[in-house]
Amino acid sequence: MTHPAPRLDFIREKVAADHASGRFGRAIMTRFPPEPNGFPHIGHAKSICLNFGIAREFGGTVNLRFDDTNPTTEDIRYVEAIKHDIEWLGFRWDRELYASDYFEQLFEIAVGLVERGKAYVDSETEAEIREHRGTVTTPGTPSRHRDRSVAENLDLLERMKRGEFPDGAHVLRAKIDLAHPNMIMRDPVLYRIRHAHHYRRGDAWCLYPLYDFAHGLSDAIEGITHSLCTLEFKDNREIYDWLVREAGFAAPPEQTEFARLELDFTVVSKRKLLRLVNDGHVAGWDDPRMPTLSGIRRRGVTAEAVRAFAEGVGVARSPARTEWAAWEHAVRDDLNMRVPRVLCVVNPLKVVLTNYPAGQVEQLEAPYYPHDVPKTGSRLVPFSGELYIDRDDFMEDPPKKFFRLAPGREVRLRYGYFITCDEVIKNGSGEVVELRCRYDPATRGGNAPDGRKVQGTIHWVSAAHALDCELRLYDRLFTVADPDSLPDGQDFLSVLNPNSLEVVPGAKVEPSVGNDPAGSRYQFERVGYFVSDPLDSRPNVLVFNRTVGLRDSWQKEKTRSS
Ligand code: ATP
Ligand code: MG
Repeated sequence: MTHPAPRLDFIREKVAADHASGRFGRAIMTRFPPEPNGFPHIGHAKSICLNFGIAREFGGTVNLRFDDTNPTTEDIRYVEAIKHDIEWLGFRWDRELYASDYFEQLFEIAVGLVERGKAYVDSETEAEIREHRGTVTTPGTPSRHRDRSVAENLDLLERMKRGEFPDGAHVLRAKIDLAHPNMIMRDPVLYRIRHAHHYRRGDAWCLYPLYDFAHGLSDAIEGITHSLCTLEFKDNREIYDWLVREAGFAAPPEQTEFARLELDFTVVSKRKLLRLVNDGHVAGWDDPRMPTLSGIRRRGVTAEAVRAFAEGVGVARSPARTEWAAWEHAVRDDLNMRVPRVLCVVNPLKVVLTNYPAGQVEQLEAPYYPHDVPKTGSRLVPFSGELYIDRDDFMEDPPKKFFRLAPGREVRLRYGYFITCDEVIKNGSGEVVELRCRYDPATRGGNAPDGRKVQGTIHWVSAAHALDCELRLYDRLFTVADPDSLPDGQDFLSVLNPNSLEVVPGAKVEPSVGNDPAGSRYQFERVGYFVSDPLDSRPNVLVFNRTVGLRDSWQKEKTRSS
């Protein structure tokens, strides 16, 4: 698959310079390093596009490396989801690797540090260690174990690995500088004891490396040239550099940070996403409201739209949230050019054409695409004397700007005829249940031979031919733009949008879609973009998810009320 080359950002400029100068003495190599503790989300898509994109653009390679050094939260299910989503996005990794495969090699590096007096076993608790680390303005105080002999350290480390000690009894710390202005450099913990089962390594290890130790050294072991990560790791760059240097790697990788992708009206922290799933606020990781790639896919968004969005947001040095409108715009732009238009009535109101020949059914030809979309094709839509239109398209007592159907008013039925409303039938409680209309046989195809105009064109389906379907109208998951920074420590769940899903049973869709495979995408004319639900939709039980509306409805409300 070919992707358009994105514009040159500050990271690509750096990579281009290093590539030209041959700085690393090896081909460009990037990696995508997910921790398999959740499903990939839209933020990961940005990192994937960047790492895989750069490797491709500069003739290099890219590793998919699972940063699976934390035994308690990781799972093979997440590994599978990550691989699937990267492929769906349209990328292929050159090597599939696991940090947990480096446990032996990492341990050797730790032993080397101890031998050279660069690391020591501390027997203080993690709470004590934190307390003795000092503050930004005061230096830390050395642990009483800081000057253990190399021999004692080696002995303890080996016994830690063998499982002789319980969790928390000892840790391995780098021996750097307890007065370092960067707090991370104040003898950071490198290893801790965890008697826990690892999803890949089983019970082989009870000593687990911490992120800083495992991450940079894994990059170095693989021969990565450019290690791209998000801004929150800026302060970790010093320990990254210290470790790869002390471990003796020639031309070690270089870390560069870029801004995380944060999208308004959603969250991308895996911890928060996991809570949404576990507490049942959504139906699962692939709920169409989730910012996960599996949710986004189920909602009907294409991989191309996700890539276009990720590239469009760009690679920045400083944090910024992305507006929801930018996301919807990318989704709509993509769907507009690719999906067929069909007719679906959301909230059916019966229309009887009093002068239509009894029992007659016509097949009207309707194009799938408007003129400005370079695709062709059409289908036949059955037309008869009993139709459904959307309740919203009729008003008994319309205001000035309402151009759709009303008593005595003539409108155009899309691809069909002009009709005029003669009579409004109501039930006992005054609810409109049926409209009696006349059609003009001379207006077939939507134009009157006498040149008379109508102001409105509405969609419809033939009552006897339409298929019942369920619509799932998805909206934003949260009611505020930034659920991550609420006042007074308010929990993010307190701003969940209670109306993020509206289920509409009993909608009516034209019959042409009846045998399309699940996962087919459409524009329901005048309603929005929809996809038949890949899991729940079947030929006789049609279910459609709203991917996105035709325009930004929230924007419309804002301008209306202002
Ligand atoms: P969380 O903080 O929610 O646990 P994470 O950053 O730890 O997420 P990882 O699985 O470790 O998640 O991320 C894999 C890669 O994706 C990392 O390189 C990380 O920097 C990058 N990444 C994660 N979230 C984003 C984001 N919102 N925008 C851009 N890149 C991201
Ligand atoms: Mg992480």
